[in-house]
Amino acid sequence: MPRTPHEGVELSGWKDIAAHLNVSIRTAQNLEKDQGLPVRRKFGIKAPVYALIPEIDEWIKHNQTAPDPPSGPKQLSGGPAETSALGLRPAQWVAAGAVLVAVALAVVAFHLAGRPKGPPASLAVRDQNLIVRNADGHELWRFQFPSLPIADFYDRVFLEHRTWIGDLGDSGRTSVLALFMPSDFAQKPHLLYSLSGSGQLLWEFVPGRTVLDGRGFVMAPPYYVREISVLKAQKPEDTRIAVASVNYAGQAGQIAFLDASGRVRGEYWHPGHLSHLAQVDIDGDGRNELLAGGANNAEHDATIVVLDPLRIKERSTPRSVFDPALRLINMPEAHEKAVILFARGCVGKSSPYLRIKALWVTSSRIIASVADDYAEENPASITYEFDHRLNLVAMTPVPQYAEAHREMERAHKLDHAYDEKREMADLRKRLVIRWGDAHNSTEPRTTASGQVR
Ligand SMILES: [Zn+2]
Repeated sequence: MPRTPHEGVELSGWKDIAAHLNVSIRTAQNLEKDQGLPVRRKFGIKAPVYALIPEIDEWIKHNQTAPDPPSGPKQLSGGPAETSALGLRPAQWVAAGAVLVAVALAVVAFHLAGRPKGPPASLAVRDQNLIVRNADGHELWRFQFPSLPIADFYDRVFLEHRTWIGDLGDSGRTSVLALFMPSDFAQKPHLLYSLSGSGQLLWEFVPGRTVLDGRGFVMAPPYYVREISVLKAQKPEDTRIAVASVNYAGQAGQIAFLDASGRVRGEYWHPGHLSHLAQVDIDGDGRNELLAGGANNAEHDATIVVLDPLRIKERSTPRSVFDPALRLINMPEAHEKAVILFARGCVGKSSPYLRIKALWVTSSRIIASVADDYAEENPASITYEFDHRLNLVAMTPVPQYAEAHREMERAHKLDHAYDEKREMADLRKRLVIRWGDAHNSTEPRTTASGQVR
């Protein structure tokens, strides 16, 4: 039989299923008939049965209190060695008076306790290892990175943007995606790993390529990985993994769209780093669009681009930009679903460009924290809230924004006193939301970026 990359998740035939349960084939067949053991059949009446280990283990968990009494010598293979590993002294269950049932229970329990089972449910990065756990928090397996990753990269807030656990191809199999950000980034490539539910490497993707800007500046790898976002589709072949990465030295940013088997199906290139990904169904067609937030150096603005994952094919990039020297060249025009360009306020007026520092989606809002500065770390920021159709519903400057403004007033860098209402109204007026050609609602661009009061 050909070995598939998914081997280890699937049990093929009654023999394997029975062995996994540690019962006879006859008992396994009875368990299916009488107790709903999840056995699957491929098409065709003579087709062999198979089962998915996570499903079987889930079934064991829910049925282990009432197993059939063992009916063959095979169930009794859990001898003293196993039971002592469980901490059960034989006298305890002999006294209970249900020897056979107890042995069967002990065997099942040992099976669960001795080797944790179930699909991957959570993960963590410790030292050089990606540690994958099941829903009970038991370690299933660990994957060793080729070198030490940056620990901060996998902080709790970032973990769900840099790893993913789920059924990528709707095949009933759980797999794991994980970005690798090495600490010795000059030596090891940054990449995305795809691992099977049992920890086997399925494929890997190294982002980036050499691109040029309007000045002739060459931006070659390495690219730093930033975030991933998995956009599930009704048809498994339309599922896309968006991978955001940024050039280590220049403004080039790549969002690669991979299919479930790791093939690159399209690349969106951006004249600025798009470090934050989120997703939302912006046009109400039942399929999520990708939101990518960051900086657009060629517009000198913070930006969110909205991309239809299936419309990004080959390589493309925004071509009509405020500052053509910084646009990426030798690529056709990109078709974004929409582009938001955030106007700069007084605080960021001398910054070369602005940047989104956080981007997330709630059940009714798209929320972007925009630093009025090129550095994400700058605390002077404004939180923009949009509904899922990109209508702006609120703008809230953080207190540090007013502080930064007043400090600039004192330093005579600004000629007016801070007035929150006026500042926000002005920024709102200069906010640009451009819908792409695929969208009916076209809003002409009303302001030139980079202009400040
Ligand atoms: Zn002002």
